[in-house]
Amino acid sequence: MLLEEERKRKAALLPDLRADIASASSARLDSNVDDEHDPEGATIAFELSQASALLKQSAAGLDQVEAALARLDAGTYGTCAVCGEAIAEGRLEARPWTPFCITHAGAGRR
Ligand SMILES: [Zn+2]
Repeated sequence: MLLEEERKRKAALLPDLRADIASASSARLDSNVDDEHDPEGATIAFELSQASALLKQSAAGLDQVEAALARLDAGTYGTCAVCGEAIAEGRLEARPWTPFCITHAGAGRR
């Protein structure tokens, strides 16, 4: 089951990302450097922001996959959350967690 695998894959990533952030944060505190002017401080700050962005992305992706699994349970999987039409098979293959048909692809985003 593709969604289950995707869920496991994403869920497995989160602890690693959290660990990266924790170690980058403590390296930043330990080094006590000026982020703006010290090259090492800037690198750590950059790594930290990259890891945070990735964590956010992964957590959001995991939410989407879990929502899709919930729709599978509810029997509404594969239909658009806006218009109720069937979502094209090719689209579901590319983005199995999507709750929207191609027409309403942007509907859930804010
Ligand atoms: Zn739709």
